[in-house]
Amino acid sequence: MQDQIFAIAVDGPAGAGKSTIARLVAERLGFIYVDTGAMYRAIALFCLQRGIQPEDETEVCTAITEAHINIRHQNGTQRVLLNGEDVSGQIRTEEVGNTASTISAYPAVRTHLLDLQRELAAKSSVIMDGRDIGTCVLPNAQAKVFLTASPKVRAMRRYKELKEKGEMCNLQEIEQDIIERDQRDMNRAAAPLKKAEDAVLVDGSDMSIDQVVSAIIEVAKGCGLLVKSSVWR
Ligand code: C5P
Repeated sequence: MQDQIFAIAVDGPAGAGKSTIARLVAERLGFIYVDTGAMYRAIALFCLQRGIQPEDETEVCTAITEAHINIRHQNGTQRVLLNGEDVSGQIRTEEVGNTASTISAYPAVRTHLLDLQRELAAKSSVIMDGRDIGTCVLPNAQAKVFLTASPKVRAMRRYKELKEKGEMCNLQEIEQDIIERDQRDMNRAAAPLKKAEDAVLVDGSDMSIDQVVSAIIEVAKGCGLLVKSSVWR
């Protein structure tokens, strides 16, 4: 196995399957999986709990100095702590996701989380997913992947996920939400969602989860990742 710390950056739009895939890649390689979206979601939850208008940049940026985010890993699963409270479950709603997309456009919010993200990658080998990992957070990551899928495929996956959780949802609304979220993430001035020049594009629209996992491990291998033969299936 690799002696040196290795980082795989995975960026891409909402619902492309980044977290499912990254978790599996981490499991196979013995890496830590870091979900940076969860950090933005925790800040969004903090704003919602305090009744702060997400559109009010000044108010958001003043308030977040009191939002302390920490990350723990338990049996390979990331837990997000907001001022000491585990909010990993509470942040998984569409409302929190949409609020995260609004507040993540503010440079002060991004700066607030950057050190934490880089510290995690400095301590162990990671696969980190988000929107700006390859471009801003870890520009020197050894392997970079831009994982995408068509809006229709992404909307259908999110629809199934929400249905499984027993939440009321509407496929067309989800697709519309996804398109709007992509637009906000791609068009913001601060660290917009875009493929890093040296990232490998993986379109998972017609691929199984296992195929995407293998494709990412192949990319990492091509970028110098050394692995024990036992991780290959
Ligand atoms: O990935 P997830 O849907 O949990 O992320 C929620 C929101 O957080 C995204 O829509 C995006 O606006 C923001 N985000 C970001 N940069 C990251 C990760 C997430 O701006 N590295």
